[in-house]
Amino acid sequence: MERYDYLVVGSGLFGATFAHEAKAAGKKVLVIDKRPNIAGNVYTEDVEGIHVHRYGAHIFHTNDKEVWDYVNRFAVFNRFTNSPVANYKGELYSLPFNMYTFNKMWGVVTPEEAKAKIEEQKRDYIAQKQAERGLSADDPFEPRNLEEQAISLIGVDIYKKLIKGYTEKQWGRDCTELPSFIIKRLPVRLTFDNNYFNALYQGIPVGGYTKMVANMLDGIEVRLNVDYFDNRELWNAAADKVVFTGPIDAFYDFRLGTLQYRSVRFETELLDTPNFQGNAAVNYTDRETPWTRIIEHKWFEFGKDAEGNDLPKTVISREFSSEWKPGDEPYYPVNDEKNGKLYEQYRQLAQKEEKVLFGGRLGEYKYYDMDKVIASALRFSRATLNQND
Ligand code: FAD
Ligand code: UDP
Repeated sequence: MERYDYLVVGSGLFGATFAHEAKAAGKKVLVIDKRPNIAGNVYTEDVEGIHVHRYGAHIFHTNDKEVWDYVNRFAVFNRFTNSPVANYKGELYSLPFNMYTFNKMWGVVTPEEAKAKIEEQKRDYIAQKQAERGLSADDPFEPRNLEEQAISLIGVDIYKKLIKGYTEKQWGRDCTELPSFIIKRLPVRLTFDNNYFNALYQGIPVGGYTKMVANMLDGIEVRLNVDYFDNRELWNAAADKVVFTGPIDAFYDFRLGTLQYRSVRFETELLDTPNFQGNAAVNYTDRETPWTRIIEHKWFEFGKDAEGNDLPKTVISREFSSEWKPGDEPYYPVNDEKNGKLYEQYRQLAQKEEKVLFGGRLGEYKYYDMDKVIASALRFSRATLNQND
């Protein structure tokens, strides 16, 4: 086999960013991926002209100008703004919680009225809780779980209709048994603003993420359907250094234990109708509907094909939160103490490696948004490529 300066295991955003930077620095790079396609979890698949987000809806949002400029070298981003709608037993509400939500919930019209209503809802609840604890309503209120945190931020009505059911489905536990930090930074706006993210830059790459990653990997050798673990010796011998973006515990044959993840199951359907729900994301916030949300993929690109024609069909994905078991697709790392300690032990093993470097959400067991994983890969590239010049 030919010799390479770098073997990159994984063609997701971390691997693709590093491979691009290494090639630009004059290095010879080979990328392998065990999947039949590039792009890792941001992979979008073309179905009837619709770019289907196969591993979950991905909306690019960032405050990092350097990362924004970087991705714009590989794709044109459209003006998509994430504005999910909440469906509570057929009643529709705007998210995140803002003046449209408060108007629909209580009929209030001005920010002043909304503020007074939220205060009233919080006050009664806090007074009752403090009385149960033998405290006065004026003592500082310390929320002890997610339910107490949510109601003390936004009041009872919104908690019951828009938070409780969704959160319990998503985490598989009662809100009184969940830690309050999950919901600490719940955006509450007294403006008419349905933009879910507080980010300076936001959008979806026109033509899908796969095309963007293909542009990043332009001119770089990529081999698909290749699992690094099937022949480590061969792959290690092919390059001076290996950049591994798969699961760190799998790299060590799970010898210290298995890192846990939260999983999601998607049920995807092609429908012979042009418009199923009129929005990219609808959250089902009641407890009874078994899915947490439905994504209608075409609305990420305004329902148009590359020429600007309306697409006649639609693809929807129902999302079900599920317990993860070994062998399932790893989605969200569980950042609790037990898993944090186990990861730390693996990290110490990884630091001793001379030939192999670890990166990305699985290599570092860290929940990274796309902009964060690219920023991390750019830092990693600078450090690694300078060191090995
Ligand atoms: P990955 O994309 O997982 O790439 C790792 C690659 O390594 C994979 O292609 C895998 O096949 C390959 N690999 C693993 N093991 C091997 C092996 N043994 N041999 C060969 N190849 C191997 N971020 C946002 O900014 N906005 C969003 O809206 C958003 N939505 C998300 C929704 C969901 C459901 C999830 C789970 C994540 C979401 N993210 C979002 C985060 C985003 O997906 C990550 O930041 C990004 O995909 C991480 O890229 P990565 O390269 O580290 O990992
Ligand atoms: N959440 C909620 N209702 C909603 C949307 C979100 O109660 O309609 C809560 C829920 O507890 C969730 C948290 O807000 O875990 C964060 O939601 P977000 O959509 O930001 O995160 P993700 O679902 O992507 O983890």
